[in-house]
Amino acid sequence: MTANANIDILVLEGDDIGPEIMAATLRVLQAADRALGLGLAFEHAAIGWAAHRAEGTTFPSAVLDKALAAHGVLLGPVATNAYPPANEGGRNPSAELRKRLDLYANIRPARSRAGFAPRCGKPVDLVIVRENTEGFYADRSMHLGHGEFMPTPDLALAVRKITREGSTRIAEAAFRLASQRRRHVTAVHKANVLRVSDGLYLECVRAVAARYPGVTYEERIIDAMAALLVRDAGQFDVIVTTNMYGDILSDEASEISGSLGLAASLNAGTEHAVAQAQHGSAPDIAGKNVANPSALIGSAAMLLAWLGERRKDDKLARGARAIEAALDAAIAKPEWRTSDLGGGLGTDAFGRKVAEQLSSVA
Ligand code: ATP
Repeated sequence: MTANANIDILVLEGDDIGPEIMAATLRVLQAADRALGLGLAFEHAAIGWAAHRAEGTTFPSAVLDKALAAHGVLLGPVATNAYPPANEGGRNPSAELRKRLDLYANIRPARSRAGFAPRCGKPVDLVIVRENTEGFYADRSMHLGHGEFMPTPDLALAVRKITREGSTRIAEAAFRLASQRRRHVTAVHKANVLRVSDGLYLECVRAVAARYPGVTYEERIIDAMAALLVRDAGQFDVIVTTNMYGDILSDEASEISGSLGLAASLNAGTEHAVAQAQHGSAPDIAGKNVANPSALIGSAAMLLAWLGERRKDDKLARGARAIEAALDAAIAKPEWRTSDLGGGLGTDAFGRKVAEQLSSVA
């Protein structure tokens, strides 16, 4: 903890590669803190398998209390697919935090970087603003019970939840962001088939669009959008969409812009924010010191930027920009890359390189 600490960050390592990429991320944050005097204080808590071994649950309730009390949360990847059922302590920490902290906006940038040819052949700099608390996610659609059920052994049904409030606030987040960028919003939907639910979503987005006459607004059907991203992702600025379309499109967009291994993201609400890489816990490479920590480091920079804006603290905003620049500089050097990007450095060594870049920032 630094002497003048006032920004409390809760650190949740997560499973598999989580501890390795979190260690590299903390090294980078501490270097930024030393260089710029950000006043960061880190508290650690166990989630996932570590918590299950100790307390019989992958998401202890005390962790939620700590997350509510912290200024921001760093969340490592979690192996939710491998967890036991809920009645044996398997709870999805990522979903719990999104619901309980009301993190309705999942902000997922996809940006091409020096040294990586974007797969669509043109530079990419877009942000997907994905609704995070409703949609086709069965754990988020019901007041009581579950959004997926089987009336008979041969019939499975799923409920998709779209609300006026949820659609309006995600649209507002997208237009606010676009106002600070290239002033262009694309709403993605499937209202030609889901006339009622995506119809309500579009009605809400259009109402918000009308309040932002300085932002160009267009709509695309999800299937056409998937193709357009491949053809020319460079034409998009801010893309606003519902939960599952956003999940799928953001993996596509980050892969087109360079690599999913670089894809950062922030889960943000009005009061809370959780930094979380887009990728999963990668059990196949866990414990080998080969995972790429870039996505989590980039997510941590997004958290600093969010805190800087919210607290009107320019130092935090500068810290975010400095980490982004250090990350870009490290990734641009082929000999500094991790093996997923064709380089030879391990997780730890790559983290040190990014941290070293920050020591010269003042
Ligand atoms: P989830 O469903 O949780 O997203 P997944 O199994 O679909 O998980 P990942 O865990 O993201 O996907 O892994 C997909 C592939 O990408 C694996 O081969 C994994 O090793 C690789 N991978 C994921 N993250 C990284 C990383 N940070 N560095 C290097 N390789 C990674």
